[in-house]
Amino acid sequence: MSLLRASPSIYSSVSSRLLKLSIFLLLGLPDSKGKAIWTAHLNITFQMGDRIISKLGESGVFGNHSPLERVSGVLVLPEGWNQNACNPMTNFSRPEQADSWLALIERGGCTFTHKINVAAEKGANGVIIYNYPGTGNKIFPMSHQGTENIVAVMIGNLKGMELLYLIQKGVYVTIIIEVGRIHMPWMSHYVMSLFTFLVATITYLFLYCAWRPRMPNSSMSRRRQMKADVKKAIGQLELRVLKEGDRELDPIENNCVVCFDTYKPQDVIRIITCKHFFHQACIDPWLLAHRTCPMCKCDILRT
Ligand SMILES: [Zn+2]
Ligand SMILES: [Zn+2]
Repeated sequence: MSLLRASPSIYSSVSSRLLKLSIFLLLGLPDSKGKAIWTAHLNITFQMGDRIISKLGESGVFGNHSPLERVSGVLVLPEGWNQNACNPMTNFSRPEQADSWLALIERGGCTFTHKINVAAEKGANGVIIYNYPGTGNKIFPMSHQGTENIVAVMIGNLKGMELLYLIQKGVYVTIIIEVGRIHMPWMSHYVMSLFTFLVATITYLFLYCAWRPRMPNSSMSRRRQMKADVKKAIGQLELRVLKEGDRELDPIENNCVVCFDTYKPQDVIRIITCKHFFHQACIDPWLLAHRTCPMCKCDILRT
């Protein structure tokens, strides 16, 4: 019974916690600072022997201050011992025949704004910055205020190293950067909150509806089981038919406490485990209703 009483409070507390959580998430929505992120498709073309290889993939993101434009050109590395283009004197080994070129620069050493400006001043039509070593394919929209006239895209370190390796081998790599899709982090936050809210509400309603019919059902089935156990226990109690000379017939010592009548020969008596006896017709309905001996209260299910 204690379990039964505890269960509704458990389910209501779980449901109310879920509701509180989803309301909290929804209230947190205006605080989320997610901005729209634009992905960049990089169409990379290069020649390997006699074959021209072309790769298209959504492998970059536009910087927060980059124009969202299509730009193309041959990919060019900074000259010198490092690839970060932080030195304002950095030159780019641009092929003579290339009209349009994009700088491939490594992240780090100075701000994004700084290195983008260095490339822009040398005439780059766009800048591709690859992430730090060890960051795999991780990318994020860069912040580079003050460079709003040149397309700037970030790509993952692995992709950057792949391109760097090709160019260092002398391969002529051209890239077309195209505007991909928009991603809105706050939108996924909103969808998640809404989803949580809906799940919490549905769970709450489900438990609320499902609980009520189950309460009487479970108590009814337990009552039925109890009745069956009592019936079985009664059936196992001893029965006797009284005959002349039995000491149970002594009207001074014995009478049935249910009907207050004395016992007579041929009466059928039921003997309970406590050794008290009664007319079978009197005690069986009593036991079915009370389970206990009317004289000593012994429980027929416990003995
Ligand atoms: Zn009786
Ligand atoms: Zn008894």
